[in-house]
Amino acid sequence: MDFTTIKSNLEARGYRVSIHKTAADATRYLDTAINGKTVGFGGSVTLDVMGVYETLSAHNDCFWHWRPRDGRTEKELRDCGNAAEVYLSSVNGIAETGEIINIDGTANRVAAILYGHERVYLVVGKNKIAPDYEKALWRARNIASPKNAHRLGVKTPCAVSGDRCYDCKSKGRICRTLSVLWDKPNGADIEILLIDEALGY
Ligand code: SF4
Repeated sequence: MDFTTIKSNLEARGYRVSIHKTAADATRYLDTAINGKTVGFGGSVTLDVMGVYETLSAHNDCFWHWRPRDGRTEKELRDCGNAAEVYLSSVNGIAETGEIINIDGTANRVAAILYGHERVYLVVGKNKIAPDYEKALWRARNIASPKNAHRLGVKTPCAVSGDRCYDCKSKGRICRTLSVLWDKPNGADIEILLIDEALGY
């Protein structure tokens, strides 16, 4: 995939951008870039399949509510992750024009991306890229969220049919918050890793 346009649009909005041919290349890159840090992880199938937690844990202090540790509750692990020096996440949609979309149920991930870390890395497979803001938002709502609902086994209309968002009123609704990064927040240090493979939802 040609990342020239999205790279230059993201850089114009203040992000650092690196491009990786494979997920394994991106994992090696993070392994070199992050050392001796406390590291928090947002819920992410992308990071899960890449094995980033296992790789970084060898020489960093990592916290992820998807990985039990020291008898801590999921909430304690989320809290530690949100207070970490470095934070890692993927995104639910990213526009070639540079807008970044995330939908969250607990909101720890969107909160952590927005503020509070020395550096944030957003790890993005090519399947997350849409041509513009509207289509990136549509993708996050109608592709990423139904697939996540299905993965979580919640009782929502999208989890059953998987075809689109029904803007449900279900108790199990996983889409409770939406964040849009129009530009990099002031003072934030955010790097976006673009990977030439389909990863996550
Ligand atoms: S709002 Fe409800 S129907 Fe729509 S994607 Fe989220 S959980 Fe599914």
